[in-house]
Amino acid sequence: MKNVLKSLINLQEIDRQLFEIEEKKGSLPEQVEKLESQAAIVKSELEDTRSSLDENQKELITIKGTLMDAAEKVKKYQDQLYLVTTNREYDALTNEIETVKSGMVEMEERQLVLETEIEELESTAASSEEQSTAFIEQLEANRDELKEKSDLTDANQIELETQRSKLVKNISQRYLRKYERILKARRRAVVAIDRSACIGCHKQLSPQVVYEIQQMDTFIECENCGRILVYIPKDED
Ligand SMILES: [Zn+2]
Repeated sequence: MKNVLKSLINLQEIDRQLFEIEEKKGSLPEQVEKLESQAAIVKSELEDTRSSLDENQKELITIKGTLMDAAEKVKKYQDQLYLVTTNREYDALTNEIETVKSGMVEMEERQLVLETEIEELESTAASSEEQSTAFIEQLEANRDELKEKSDLTDANQIELETQRSKLVKNISQRYLRKYERILKARRRAVVAIDRSACIGCHKQLSPQVVYEIQQMDTFIECENCGRILVYIPKDED
């Protein structure tokens, strides 16, 4: 019986470590996923800025071209003014010149707006790029670190599971099933006693039961919480 109880104590320690590993593992992929989605947001913001910048620059080039054409047209009309012979032709040309000129004023205003916007977009793109580079570096460093941690965790888990299956072979099904049933319900199935009380539920035990527990020759369950009671000398804590 002593061996069964000692095996159950060891089994519980292995199960505790395996439980911790499962909990840790659960959050690792989540962490990577979160970092990746943040990096994706920064990247898509940068792409938006770049595409707005591109559109503005294209529009600016078109406007500059149209303005040059308009200026040439005005010059041509002004030259023609010297050649007209009637007032009607003169008025028609003057009107034409005014129309082109007012169109030019509008375009020049748009040009100013675009130039201001381009300046702002360029500075936004520059700082986004800086941010994105720094972020990608951080992500890669974190990903490597997480991968290392995860590999280490996997190796640990395999080692513990090997130990567990060896240990379980030496415990009879009757006790093993009992242990597993209590563990599922109470998280700790095997508990020591402290000042003649069950550590699991603090129920006081009779001196006779305490004595039997100390002998470790009997399979004793706490009559209050059902946990398996064992004696762990202080130096083995
Ligand atoms: Zn108890």
